[in-house]
Amino acid sequence: MSSTDFDCRYCGDRMRIRTSKQLHPDYRKLYLECRNPDCRAKARAEFVVTATLSPSGRPNPNYQEKLAEHVPWQCTAEST
Ligand SMILES: [Zn+2]
Repeated sequence: MSSTDFDCRYCGDRMRIRTSKQLHPDYRKLYLECRNPDCRAKARAEFVVTATLSPSGRPNPNYQEKLAEHVPWQCTAEST
């Protein structure tokens, strides 16, 4: 996750991921902090796997829940 950057909504600088928790195979909660020392805004974000684009060659037989099928992200997300 360290290569993922977010733009700070307040100052436009880059935010880093301070920590994150994976609460579901398709869902991770992220805690962000702005890198700009004059800003230092903190935010919480969510990371959701919304679709399988290519099936796994090693599917997990225990994986049953497809979280994104039950949340409204697909209604508002871009189709690509
Ligand atoms: Zn900022």
